[in-house]
Amino acid sequence: AKTKGRNAYQFFEPGLAAGVLERLMMETALRGAAGRGELRLHFQPQIDLRSGALAGVEALVRWQHPQLGLVSPAQFIPLAEEVGLISEIGDWVLQQACAQMVAWEAQGLRVPRIAVNLSVQQIEDPQHMARVAQALAHSGLAGARLELEVTESLIMRQPEQAQRHLQELLSLGVEFAIDDFGTGHSSLAYLRRLPLHRLKIDQSFVRDIGEDSGGEAIVHAVIALARALGLHTVAEGVEQPHQAEFLRQAGCDTVQGYHFGRPMPAAQLLERWLDAPAR
Ligand code: C2E
Ligand code: CA
Ligand code: CA
Ligand code: CA
Repeated sequence: AKTKGRNAYQFFEPGLAAGVLERLMMETALRGAAGRGELRLHFQPQIDLRSGALAGVEALVRWQHPQLGLVSPAQFIPLAEEVGLISEIGDWVLQQACAQMVAWEAQGLRVPRIAVNLSVQQIEDPQHMARVAQALAHSGLAGARLELEVTESLIMRQPEQAQRHLQELLSLGVEFAIDDFGTGHSSLAYLRRLPLHRLKIDQSFVRDIGEDSGGEAIVHAVIALARALGLHTVAEGVEQPHQAEFLRQAGCDTVQGYHFGRPMPAAQLLERWLDAPAR
């Protein structure tokens, strides 16, 4: 059997054998999934809290496996990163996301911005910049309408390199959001040096609204920090109206969550938002 690096030891622990086999099968199946047309993009609306208008969407990948059904990214993205398949998947996501924006526009729906998640390997890949440039050029989408989401932990792995890479990408006009803010160990000194546009408040803090005053204090502090750094805020995982109301009063700019819409296929987003009056 083919074993990989730090997982090799698992073969000597009987209880884990099934898990290893499952992983190997999954890896084999994931190889070429993009080429076989098994990946799907879903889009989750981001709503401007002041106007109620659609501010943008986040592109979230799914894997439609012939036997397993729709596999969640939480299951296959970490594996794809580990076995070096994320660049292939990431490229597909990027191209698809840009093409979809142009397609919506042709159908009469203008989505102001699309956010795409980046992985460590992508930002450490010297070819990444060219791939982003190509996705924009092929689709004809303006760079300013593409937002790349990076997590704190991704940045902090190699802060100087990440900073250089983001600066380069900036020349394409793209924007950057820091994802899952507050859950990683980031140095504010580094964050301040990055060309960021938006800060995404992690859903764990949003969940605390109305439940835990410490969590609410963190939400206020993050919004104040973002303001001080000149960044916009997006709160994630907003499931309830009282959370949205708290965020509005706290001065949060944009919200994303099941209360406003789950990640959905492109056609469904079009149906829901085409000619939708500002709420
Ligand atoms: P993320 O970037 O933090 O994305 C937000 C996740 O929260 C999504 O899960 C979304 O469906 C979920 N979510 C949104 N609103 C709510 C809510 O109100 N309540 C709850 N409980 N959850 C909500 P999803 O789509 O399963 O994606 C999971 C993670 O997989 C993402 O977390 C991201 O880290 C990764 N991922 C997804 N697509 C891609 C991709 O194209 N590339 C890379 N590198 N990673 C991706
Ligand atoms: Ca994200
Ligand atoms: Ca997030
Ligand atoms: Ca997350």
